[in-house]
Amino acid sequence: MERYWNKEIECMSREDMKKLQDERLVAQVKHVYANVPYYKKLMDEKGVTPDDIRSTADLHKLPFLTKADLREAYPYGLLAKPLSECVRIQSTSGTTGKRVVAFYTQHDIDLWEDCCARAITAAGGTKDDVCQVCYGYGLFTGGPGLNGGSHKVGCLTLPMSSGNTERQIQFMIDLQSTILCCTPSYAAYIGETLHEMGYTTDDIKLKAGIFGAEPWTEEMRREIEKSLGIKAYDIYGLTETSGPGVSFECSEQTGMHINEDHFIAEIIDPDTGEVLPEGSKGELVFTSITKEAFPLLRYRTRDICVLTREKCSCGRTLVKMSKPLGRSDDMLIIRGVNVFPSQIETVLIEQGYAPNYQIEVDRVNNSDTLDINVEMSDDKFSDMVKDIQQKERELAAAIKTMLGISPKVHLVPPKTIARSEGKAVRVIDKRKLQG
Ligand code: ADP
Ligand code: ZN
Repeated sequence: MERYWNKEIECMSREDMKKLQDERLVAQVKHVYANVPYYKKLMDEKGVTPDDIRSTADLHKLPFLTKADLREAYPYGLLAKPLSECVRIQSTSGTTGKRVVAFYTQHDIDLWEDCCARAITAAGGTKDDVCQVCYGYGLFTGGPGLNGGSHKVGCLTLPMSSGNTERQIQFMIDLQSTILCCTPSYAAYIGETLHEMGYTTDDIKLKAGIFGAEPWTEEMRREIEKSLGIKAYDIYGLTETSGPGVSFECSEQTGMHINEDHFIAEIIDPDTGEVLPEGSKGELVFTSITKEAFPLLRYRTRDICVLTREKCSCGRTLVKMSKPLGRSDDMLIIRGVNVFPSQIETVLIEQGYAPNYQIEVDRVNNSDTLDINVEMSDDKFSDMVKDIQQKERELAAAIKTMLGISPKVHLVPPKTIARSEGKAVRVIDKRKLQG
């Protein structure tokens, strides 16, 4: 039986949801125009006033905000409430450059935690569950967000933070955790360590995992589900819009429902900024219509995905986003070909390798090189050089079929690629390091 945290909202008719969004958007634009000089200037430059925004149909008239704006306005330039009304600051993990900070009033914290409670409930969580949160705590939004959501649901919450993996497993066994929240790469690492410590899935009580904060493939989902004996659910969010919980997966596991009562989603062409019709692949843009302190309008996430309103078997009517293929700025252009690390991950897991790999891109004699270090699992480990070369050739051929360009594959001994306790670093682009 499907469980909802807020059935009225999660299963609301499109008509009612649109009405709610219309009202909230109109009020939010007024609030931002009156309180954020930085955004007022952008609107003035575009010749738009709050009176021009009468419903969501007018959304496209508003200017975009980008990460560059956030950096320019750092730290207080986009704040829409007096600091005395703010109760929290969080910050991005800085994956792609200088960190940005986001501010929250108590109202903003409540709505964020509420979104996380929806995600936990959709994954089957109730007050009878023990929820082990191993996202990082601190400025990073992962730990605090899921921690708050878990409290709301009434789960017994284990605020573990990331790291100290053997202790994570000991607690998981001793305290009979039923739900695990962390990055997918850390979940894979926890699974690996569990088996190394001589345990099996029979020794743990986990039933579900809520994994996000970085891209992961369907192949990786199956691996994690097998190694931990659970159902693995995706969760998405970004600091700029509050944190995890902007969207979450339901029992159907075919994309994440966006909490549309708080966030309006659009898909745009990243080159022209034009809004694309439903079903098109493009850059995801969010407008937060309920946040008070840091209410970004038309924020360009740089995440590439597809939105769909097809009926979902879970009964929710909230629009669904596909797993982001990766960020537009994660995309590598190698010898003119667009490559997402997730495509390489798909091939590796299909070929029976664990998701322990690192991609190195360089430029030698004016030509791009692509080297992929892939760890052998214990059962594949072979010290027969001939064998290794054969396996490297097979893997390179499979990757060439996927990408259209030939990589150099290097099989490396087990446990030589660093494991991730947070967001995994998959790519070293030496071309960028050289400037
Ligand atoms: P940073 O941009 O420094 O990593 P955040 O910690 O706020 O800062 O990360 C937000 C970004 O993480 C998103 O824009 C997206 O690229 C990525 N992300 C979050 N959740 C997911 C997910 N479930 N799948 C893929 N990518 C995700
Ligand atoms: Zn659903």
